[in-house]
Amino acid sequence: MPSVARNVHDVRAVWTSEEGSMAKETAETRWAKIIQGTVDDIGETAAAEDVDNQKRVESIAIQIALKEIKENIKQNKALTPLQDDGKPDIQEWNKQLAAIGGCSWINCPWLFGECYMYRRIQRILNSSKHWKNYDVFKRQKDSTFVKSRAAVAELASRYVQVVADTTLAQTESKEEAKKVLFIEMTEIALWGNATDLSLLANLTLEDLQKLQGSEAIQKSQRNIVDNDTDDVWGYLQRTAGQTSRQIDIVLDNAGFELFTDVLYAAYLLDSGISTSVRLHAKEFPWFVSDVTASDVDSLFEHLDSGECFPDREYLDQLVPRLRKLFQSGAITITSDPFWTTPFSFHEMPSKAPALFKELQNSYMVIFKGDLNYRKLTRDGLWPHITTYEEALGPLGKQSGVKILALRTNKSDVCVGVSNQSKVDRLNEEAPGGAWIRNGKYAVVSFNEGQ
Ligand SMILES: [Mg+2]
Repeated sequence: MPSVARNVHDVRAVWTSEEGSMAKETAETRWAKIIQGTVDDIGETAAAEDVDNQKRVESIAIQIALKEIKENIKQNKALTPLQDDGKPDIQEWNKQLAAIGGCSWINCPWLFGECYMYRRIQRILNSSKHWKNYDVFKRQKDSTFVKSRAAVAELASRYVQVVADTTLAQTESKEEAKKVLFIEMTEIALWGNATDLSLLANLTLEDLQKLQGSEAIQKSQRNIVDNDTDDVWGYLQRTAGQTSRQIDIVLDNAGFELFTDVLYAAYLLDSGISTSVRLHAKEFPWFVSDVTASDVDSLFEHLDSGECFPDREYLDQLVPRLRKLFQSGAITITSDPFWTTPFSFHEMPSKAPALFKELQNSYMVIFKGDLNYRKLTRDGLWPHITTYEEALGPLGKQSGVKILALRTNKSDVCVGVSNQSKVDRLNEEAPGGAWIRNGKYAVVSFNEGQ
């Protein structure tokens, strides 16, 4: 296939000034609301009776500083260098801001501007005395998890009944059934949503086999505009003999999605696909709902709670099992400062060489969600038929990194669509770029880095 863009730098990154873009819409309508959410959250926490008086007093200054960011966004003020908060990354941020040149909230590279906003919030907290480790988004993250209680219970029951069925791991002759299960579990991790998926419900192994290639599978995959599931499965089958098969999952959101990711990790281990799983979280609160290490603790607190889950038939089987995977070190959690920089992953080999090397040694790296995908593809306005490999730049061809992106489309970038007539059909079906933005379409994109 001819190369669509010869040089990755030929492709512009999307700016928040781009007419008709998701970037512009987000910067103009969402950002100020997100900041107001943090102001309200601090206010609510500070108002609690048991809060230390000094902490309460300090909350007022924090709220004023946060409101100032909000006003700056609304007035489209220039992005200014971050003030020192004692952390080593500040210099890099300011260097990059200087390299971009004069830019403002509604006229800046979307990826930089959005990351910068979260770092600005964190700078205020880092500079405080009583709020350093405070998570301004925890309240929101917890409440979305609680709202998805029914889906959690449903998925727990399916996992215990179907996936954890020991016959599955032990039966060599059930290859097709295993593949169907892989597709199903991958789709749950992709959509972060159990309620749309019916395949796992009350199925026996025989039923799973019958489903291979069936209408149900095809229907569930219809909206995956670049679907490399078969290639991933092929890779996993071909390499199953390797002794060390550590899979890295670069997480996106907390709450129900994190629950599906932990289940996916458990499935990868239970099925023998992987020998260990490493979950990558963020070092500080990021993009509202992204996972920090303490969100994993929160997840288990919620799963243990009889108040949250009064019906415990399946959870009491599942939760100790999951906990054991963490305790034995089969699943570990890590974070790297690179994940909370504004750099696209094209910059990883130069800006985070140690991390890059670790990922090269990984059996497979799974990047979850929209922001990771934007970073993988430099948030570039690629023609949609650009290959995933090409858009990955230095992480693509000959990178040695096996990269699987599981992403529902929620921004301006999408590559890997097989041909122009498919793009035309998508544009007709979901006009105005809706298929790249509305979260109803997705990609399961895989590259072996060869
Ligand atoms: Mg996120």
